[in-house]
Amino acid sequence: MSNNRNTPPTRRRVSRKKRQQMIRRRRIILTAVMLIMMILVAIGVVAGVKTISGRNNKQTEPDVTVSSSSNIPVDGDINSSTAANDSTLQQTRQYTQQQTAGSTEQSVAGQDGTKQTGSAGNAGSAGNADSTFTTSKGFKGYVKDGVTYIDGYMIVNKTYSLPSNYIPQDTEVPVTSEWSTKSLNRELMEAYRQLQSAASSNGLNIYISSGYRSYNTQKNLYNNYVAKDGKAQADTYSARAGYSEHQTGLCFDLNTIDDSFQYTDEGIWVNQNAYKYGFIIRYPKGKESITGYQYESWHLRYVGRELAEKLYNNGNWITMEEYFGIDSKYAD
Ligand SMILES: [Zn+2]
Repeated sequence: MSNNRNTPPTRRRVSRKKRQQMIRRRRIILTAVMLIMMILVAIGVVAGVKTISGRNNKQTEPDVTVSSSSNIPVDGDINSSTAANDSTLQQTRQYTQQQTAGSTEQSVAGQDGTKQTGSAGNAGSAGNADSTFTTSKGFKGYVKDGVTYIDGYMIVNKTYSLPSNYIPQDTEVPVTSEWSTKSLNRELMEAYRQLQSAASSNGLNIYISSGYRSYNTQKNLYNNYVAKDGKAQADTYSARAGYSEHQTGLCFDLNTIDDSFQYTDEGIWVNQNAYKYGFIIRYPKGKESITGYQYESWHLRYVGRELAEKLYNNGNWITMEEYFGIDSKYAD
């Protein structure tokens, strides 16, 4: 019993030691657990930061797109016009799909909305064309209802004319008069407003002086010029009826329709920047023998950004005639 009595104190001592050991162990374990938790928290924080930055990156992209989109009218850089172009292309594709349901050929053509736009009003394709041909540069062309398209772009020059009854259909404002600065192709008008806004943000003022002109309006214009300067001279600066691009609704003349325009701040800026919005100088300087027309710094044709950038050629304009490998010469 004494042992038994003595035992407890011994046990107590042992248990005290054990308790101390247990307390130490607990402290060690607690410390270890706290360390592990701290490490876990630290890892969590790092991972969290990564996640947040990842989200930020993802969120930044649309923001950048949005801000660059909203910058379109402000600085008119290439990226902005690209963003704008994409939506326009989608619209064009939708339009194309509506217009050409079921046609494989046109679905393919519709993949490049710009071309469809360049051939605005085009409800036909090589599939149901009146005739087809291949240019000297290997581009496929066709004629439908008297209108010529090459690689999907409507072509009007001294070789390729429009019927006297041709009236553009896909215009922002329906054609109701013989001439109009508003009855122009829808996509052209969207691009023009961007061009105008960009010019405006640069302190420049551009405006459309001449847009759509009917066959009869062009006939009167040309006949007046012939009466004034003679046929040979008139042919260098004025189109005969049916041969004017103004009948397409895909072009316009800016500001003062005069040689002096090229020397104005507006003329210089337009020459250097219009391509970013899908416009080309249709009759460039030094290309008179190719286009058949004098240099017209004020006459812009809408072809969409893809082709416009190619024809801009870093400031050394290429004509549609050179690019496609076609002539611009009257038959008589
Ligand atoms: Zn013109």
